[in-house]
Amino acid sequence: MRLVTFRLGGVERVGAVMGDRVVDLHAASNGEVPATMLELLAQGDAGMERARRVLAQAQDQGVPLSQVTLLAPVPRPPKNVMALGLNYREHAIESARARGEQVVFPEVPVIFTKASTSVIGPEAEIVVPYDVTTKADWEVELAVVIGARAKRVKAADALGYVAGYTVANDVSARDLQFAHQQFFRGKSLDTFCPLGPWLVTRDEIPNPHALRITLRVNGVTKQDSSTSELIFDVPTIIETLAAGLTLEPGDVILTGTPSGVGVARVPPEFLQPGDMVEAEIEGIGVLRNRVVAAE
Ligand code: ZN
Repeated sequence: MRLVTFRLGGVERVGAVMGDRVVDLHAASNGEVPATMLELLAQGDAGMERARRVLAQAQDQGVPLSQVTLLAPVPRPPKNVMALGLNYREHAIESARARGEQVVFPEVPVIFTKASTSVIGPEAEIVVPYDVTTKADWEVELAVVIGARAKRVKAADALGYVAGYTVANDVSARDLQFAHQQFFRGKSLDTFCPLGPWLVTRDEIPNPHALRITLRVNGVTKQDSSTSELIFDVPTIIETLAAGLTLEPGDVILTGTPSGVGVARVPPEFLQPGDMVEAEIEGIGVLRNRVVAAE
């Protein structure tokens, strides 16, 4: 299933996409399926089975996607968005080069967070406050959405705790990221975490480590790699985080970005007002967001 959070007539609902239509799962099930993505995810596999059954019986229902506003699949994750740094070899190399430092591949996952308030949906604007940052950069990432309470999970079982996957753009204010000892501020500006366009349930992506991952700015390809290049794979990331920290349904983990970010280009490039950024992952979809300057 391709699950979405959408707004129609001022009401926010969880839905499933069929072709170019979206089915309101709550309405189509007479309330049997909850109204929000977080409530649905909290029901775990049983909730997903129910949603699947409702969708199968709703063949002719739904409204055209063009009539609704898609929000991030999880508009407000329970925790801040967790994210991996330097989790692709080529990106670790370009990052070190850009900062004039020695290349060091991480021996344990590098994990930081982005404020949950930075999340926006597909087609929403990335609003850059150019008086605060002049170095807003892009990072396409495979995003994992947790579907069950996970604590002390072994890597071998970890994918069973995943609800599904979506596309993320880990927009980063490089000047702020490098000025402060920690990444939080540079990663957390409002609108700096586009997610979407939908959550593809895990049954449709049996192997999350074989997906082409690309990003374009104004149609020009800037990043082009494969999730097979991840240094720490999804099960290892979940096992690491869930050791002593409880992951909850709706938690979002960004798995790191491949090479080709703006700050590492020669000369460096950063997002400008009017730029159209398209982040794409094979088997999931395209996340499109336009950049505008904050008023
Ligand atoms: Zn990132």
